[in-house]
Amino acid sequence: MTYNFSAGPATLPQPVLEQVHREWFGWGDTKTPIVSISHRHPAFLELMFETQQNLRDLLSVPDRYRILFLAGGARAQFSAVPMNLLGHIDPAKRRAAYIDTGLWSQSAITEAKQYAKVDILSSAKTLSYLEIPAQSSWENIPSDAAYLHYTPNETVGGLEFHWVPEGYSVPLVADMSSNILSRPIDVNQFGIIYACAQKNLGSAGVTVVIIREDLLEQACSEVPSVLNYKKQAEVQSLYNTPDVFAIYVMSLVLKWAKAEGGVHAMEARNKRKAEKLYAAIDASDFYHNRIKPADRSRMNVIFTFADATREEDFITEAAQSGLLALRGHKLGGGGCRASLYNGMPESGVDALIQFMREFEKH
Ligand SMILES: *Cc1c(COP(=O)(O)O)cnc(C)c1O
Repeated sequence: MTYNFSAGPATLPQPVLEQVHREWFGWGDTKTPIVSISHRHPAFLELMFETQQNLRDLLSVPDRYRILFLAGGARAQFSAVPMNLLGHIDPAKRRAAYIDTGLWSQSAITEAKQYAKVDILSSAKTLSYLEIPAQSSWENIPSDAAYLHYTPNETVGGLEFHWVPEGYSVPLVADMSSNILSRPIDVNQFGIIYACAQKNLGSAGVTVVIIREDLLEQACSEVPSVLNYKKQAEVQSLYNTPDVFAIYVMSLVLKWAKAEGGVHAMEARNKRKAEKLYAAIDASDFYHNRIKPADRSRMNVIFTFADATREEDFITEAAQSGLLALRGHKLGGGGCRASLYNGMPESGVDALIQFMREFEKH
């Protein structure tokens, strides 16, 4: 038995893997491997529309939002967002607001700077990225900024918003790559939500974009068609060949999530998993997590060692015990990171805590 704590591509629910395995040589009535089927095949189209509907049901996405399945990962959206939302503004006056809470926010900011003047309304840098600055401390948004972008869960740094920025008249854009489907959300609070699939939704290759319909009209003329939200919405995200395999895997993950009780059940389980791991870390003098408890991520739990020389042995011995991929991101300052996405069973967290206690003892 192994548990894989990878930050992404991440652990998928076991029943999903088993079904992929069973159906690999012949998918459903088509008797054809899913990876060799036309994306225009009626059975695939049905699968794709059903998957979009299941996502709509799970997240209660209102009718006035479109759901797109695009390529290029969340990083393509770092460019797609500004290119699709700034077209109605004179190029010299394009302006967008961002919040910096860590590595992924910064990557989005770097990309956006190619298309717009970026105003960083708040940066967690002043708090050493150990805390999310309260909204009351943020600078006012410039009246001509086209949107506000933030990263609800910082996958590398382990910070998560447990609230949604409020009170803006411009669209709120959220990179939910690493916490979509981990909890209920009110989609009405957002203009655009985007997320790559390889954390909570399935395998890498497809990126979900949930966009309020009126925002489909603001694209810059030079935006590549594959990234043009309006063009892709008009052709059901089939302008280019979509990643049929990734969409198939997502279809299974969403059915699994529904059968498990949906986002409320996911949230309850994710809370339990994260709370017990943080409690184990806080109860010891051996392991540390310095992030303010109210801003700790439920998805990516970071921990370091009072004696940093223990880290390598910990990672090696954990792997020997079947606890895999616990090494932290090199840009996140090292240490360990346990990613506890929806696909990580509670027994995996229990096994990790048990191992941590034993390692500390000897
Ligand atoms: C993983 C991740 C990304 C990058 O996704 P790609 O599919 O590699 O482009 C972006 N943002 C966040 C928050 C992530 O966790």
